[in-house]
This record gives sequence, structure tokens and C-alpha cells, in this order.
Amino acid sequence: MTDVPASAELEVDLGALVANWRSLAARHPTGPVAGVLKANAYGMGVAGVGPALHAAGCRHFFVATLDEALALRPLVPGAMLAVLGGLLPDAAPVHHAHDVTPVLASLGEVAAWRAMAASVGHKLPAIIQLDTGMARLGLDPGEVARLRQDPGLLDGITVRYYLTHLVSAEIADDPLNPAQRDRFAAACAGLPPAPRSLANSSGLFLGPGWHSDLARPGAALYGINPTPGRPNPMRRVATLRTQVLTIREIPAGTPVGYNATWHAGRPSRIATAGIGYADGLHRSVSGRATAFFDGRPAPLVGRVSMDLTTYDVTDLPGIVPGSWLTLIGAEQGPDDLAIAAGTNGYEVLTSIAPRVRRLYRPA
Ligand SMILES: *Cc1c(COP(=O)(O)O)cnc(C)c1O
Repeated sequence: MTDVPASAELEVDLGALVANWRSLAARHPTGPVAGVLKANAYGMGVAGVGPALHAAGCRHFFVATLDEALALRPLVPGAMLAVLGGLLPDAAPVHHAHDVTPVLASLGEVAAWRAMAASVGHKLPAIIQLDTGMARLGLDPGEVARLRQDPGLLDGITVRYYLTHLVSAEIADDPLNPAQRDRFAAACAGLPPAPRSLANSSGLFLGPGWHSDLARPGAALYGINPTPGRPNPMRRVATLRTQVLTIREIPAGTPVGYNATWHAGRPSRIATAGIGYADGLHRSVSGRATAFFDGRPAPLVGRVSMDLTTYDVTDLPGIVPGSWLTLIGAEQGPDDLAIAAGTNGYEVLTSIAPRVRRLYRPA
């Protein structure tokens, strides 16, 4: 049904995505570079992103939930596919049946996976997360010490990787970065030997000290700047557009949108377009964001509605019903739109709703 007209579309440039993955792989000589595809590949859609990365040679994938893993599993045959969110109660048989590797987040989860291995009678692979400064998921220092004293807790488990997650990698000079690197090295050194996984997108740009046996970028694959404050080294992957539904000519003083937060200061042309907060355009960009038409800015005026937004196009006479306005594109990346929304590029991309039509430009 892709020829049914849609008023909002997200075009995903799979060639740029693959180029981003290759350029990250070139930055990481010590081991392979995975793809992190949680939250439907940061909103880009696993249906397009999974096969494109797999065809490019990516053989390690991470998602957040078991549901996400089951959706991705058939798209990346033979690849390692791991769930970052840990092992839920009763989930072990599902992981085992679908070859989905758990990222074990506590000694309790280690015990549950050990029991699963005992019940099937052979060793099972797992990733073990170590908490080095986030107090979120992963074995805490006390659990690491218990594991060191009793390596039998890992009976039946093949440790594919020890994994830890950097809390501040996008701030290059944050002392937490070397602190976590050193804590991770110390924790791993006391445990049965296994490969290690450290850097996320920004971590890949911290230097060789943060290289490991497996890097785990997400954001940078999708064109989010992994080096905020410096030029974006990644190619743009996402283009978000909305179609103009109607044009209104209004006299000076006319209010526009809910709660009449904006009044025309002059006789104005207002374009109403078919994207709103239910499409993932944050309501907090009301009166702050800009769309672009042929590279020229069309200010968003008034409140963002659930399904609609309004733009002052008085100075853009070429805009007519059916014209497309660009909200994420060459003029304005996800990180720029995030500033207007008071958030980060990650939330901008992962907010783009399922009802926004995804179009894939092939690699
Ligand atoms: C989301 C996530 C990543 C990817 O992080 P980016 O900053 O998007 O590159 C890597 N590792 C873990 C544990 C994560 O939760």
C-alpha cells in the first residue's frame, strides 16, 4: 500500500547508513563494530536497517528488548543478536529457542542463564554487563568480587563478552571516561578471560584507549553527531518531510493554533502541514522550530497540534498545497531540531512515530 498518499515521510538513506558503519569500523582496528538497532533502529526502521547492515558485513547486533530481537532475528541470519535490557524472568527459553544472546545484568540473571544451560545440557553463550559508573544495569563491584571468588557461578555459560557502557563519552574531556575505562579493565582482569566490549558511538572518538574487542555504536550510524561541539563526522541518514495540506491568507492580528499563542504581525500566508506531536514532532518545538522549502526557512508558528503544524510562508510564495516542507534534512539535522525541542538527537529520531511513512533509499 506504499502508493497510498501520506502527509509525513521519513526517508532513510541506507547508503549513508552503511558508509557510516564502514567509517566507524575503520576507526576501530581492535575488533568488529556492531550495530545497535534498539527502538526500531533509532526510529529508522529495522526492516530497512537490519538487512542493509547485514549485507555490508555487520555480524553483531544489539537491541533493547526481546520483542525487538524476535523482529530482527530473521533479518540478520547467522549474526550475533543480543538484548541489552537483561534477562527477564521466564525469558531464558525464548532466548535459547531463537538464538538471542542475553546481556546478563546481575548475578541473579547469571544464575537463571546457568540453570537454562543445565536444563539443555550444554553450554550457552551470554554477554555479561559490568557496571562501571552508571548504577543502572550490570554487575556491581560487590557482584564482580563474588564472581571472582566463585567462577563456578559461570558454569555452563560461554562468556562472549564482558560489556560496560560509558556514561559521558560525548564529553571528550570528562574524567569519567578514563575512570570507567580503568574500572572496566580492573574488573575484567580478575574474571575468567573473555573478549570485551566498551565503546558506544562517542566512545569510538575518544581514542585507542577506548578500543576493545567489540564496539557498539548506535547514534552515529544514524547520523547523530558523536562529537557534539565539533563538526559532525557522520553522513546524514534521515530526512523528515511533511506535506502542506492547505494555505490560508489571514489579516494582521489573526491568531493561529491552539490557545492563540501566535498572532500574525502582518497580512500572512499560513501553511498547515500534516505532521504533529503524534508523529513524534515534539510539542515543545511550538513557536521555535523551522521547516525548510528549497533551502529557505519557513518558521513554525503557534502550537504543534496532534496531527498538524502551521508555518508562516508569507515570504515563500512557491509553497502551495502539496508542497513538501523538510524538518530534518540538509539544512537542519536531528541534533539541530533537538535544540528547539529541548532534548537530544536520540530522542528526536526515536520519537518519529510508526505512522510516519518510511521510505528506504537503497544502499
Ligand atoms: C544504546 C546503547 C549503545 C549505543 O549507544 P550510542 O550512544 O547510540 O552509540 C551502546 N551500548 C549500550 C549498553 C546502550 O544502551
